Amino acid sequence: MKCWLYESTSNKITEINNPIYFHCPTCDLIFIHDHYILSNDEDKNRYLLYDNTMENEGYVKQLKGFIKEAVQPYSHQLKKVFLQQYRPR
Ligand SMILES: [Zn+2]
Repeated sequence: MKCWLYESTSNKITEINNPIYFHCPTCDLIFIHDHYILSNDEDKNRYLLYDNTMENEGYVKQLKGFIKEAVQPYSHQLKKVFLQQYRPR
């Protein structure tokens, strides 16, 4: 399978069989097999199934978990980058 970024030959990650992932030795990108990529219509239809509102307890619980695991541990670094980037001059 060719890398999505550099089109170099990539290697199947053998530790995972479903779905199938590849690793590019040139740029380190890990990407999923094209077979699992949804068409635009499939993507839209799946999106329309979501109820991402504050009234949806499951969504709110999942979002809070994501923030706790993937945002809060890095929030100090993000604040530093933001202040460096947008500091008044
Ligand atoms: Zn690559």
